[in-house]
Amino acid sequence: MSQQSTKLETLSRRSVLRTGTGLAAGLGGLAAAGGTVTLGPRLAHSAAPMADSQVPGLYRTKVGGVVVTAIADGFLNIPLDYFTGTTPEEMGPVLHDRFMPPEGPIPTAINAFLVNTGDRLIAIDSGAADRFGPSAGRYAALLETAGLTPGDVDMVLLTHAHPDHIGGMVAGGAALFPNSEVLIHQAELDFWTSDARRAAAPEGMQPMFDLVVAMRDLYGDRISPFSGNAAVAPGVTAVAAHGHTPGHCGFMVESEGEQLFIWGDLIHSVDTQLQHPDWLLVFDIDQENAEASRRRGLDMAATDRLQVAGAHLPFPSFGHIGREGSGYRFVPSPWEYEL
Ligand SMILES: [Zn+2]
Repeated sequence: MSQQSTKLETLSRRSVLRTGTGLAAGLGGLAAAGGTVTLGPRLAHSAAPMADSQVPGLYRTKVGGVVVTAIADGFLNIPLDYFTGTTPEEMGPVLHDRFMPPEGPIPTAINAFLVNTGDRLIAIDSGAADRFGPSAGRYAALLETAGLTPGDVDMVLLTHAHPDHIGGMVAGGAALFPNSEVLIHQAELDFWTSDARRAAAPEGMQPMFDLVVAMRDLYGDRISPFSGNAAVAPGVTAVAAHGHTPGHCGFMVESEGEQLFIWGDLIHSVDTQLQHPDWLLVFDIDQENAEASRRRGLDMAATDRLQVAGAHLPFPSFGHIGREGSGYRFVPSPWEYEL
């Protein structure tokens, strides 16, 4: 047997297993068999910069003949005292079970979506822009990473008018999307552009009203309000889920017999609110209806075995909803390497 073949045999699976585990043990076996492995002084120490963020977040899936892209605009930390219908003391053990700090806060994603039907590019929500500090606002940059410009977007569908969904509509005092029609539920537009509602709202909420008014003024007659479960685009239907805000909607994307339910803000904390659908947030304007809409949406998703996606489900947010006890569980879709 030649020296060459001895070395090759040394690296066989059997010998690696015999001499120990892993590549290091295999290399040790090679050296012992007369091979040369030089370690030590020649190893460079690269002192690579310590990374503190992820590679930009885009993820795509296909629904029939339509490509849906999830965009990771960023995240928010929700303090436990923002929850209603529960107490931090009650939430602690639930978070502990989820391997999260029992004292909170609860991190939640901010996702937006693109639906490319082949002849139309539809945006669903637009991220927070600069409304939530440095932890969000990556939407515009990620659009560019996706090889697109805001001018490529034909239509924007807004689930509702909270700043983490419409912040990106306004960039530096101008409309981000120069060519888009903008669809939003009539009740949503009416609520946030009402002077009387603004005057009656707590002072801290008033900038939310101002942002919607600014968006309305910038997009002008390109804004088309809709109502009911309207067909808002070819293959896309609004699904009324009012309560979180007066005109909050999800959107059902359908193509070639497949469906994806992009449910907006039905859930803000996957770690607690699926198990306890009655745990709401101070931001749910009509608490009773918010809970009813959530329960209806979750029941539909579980019963119809729908694939879902959401603005505040962990990025990229595609998955299914199963029933568990008196609540539900989220089953993320397997990572797709190819569409
Ligand atoms: Zn939201």
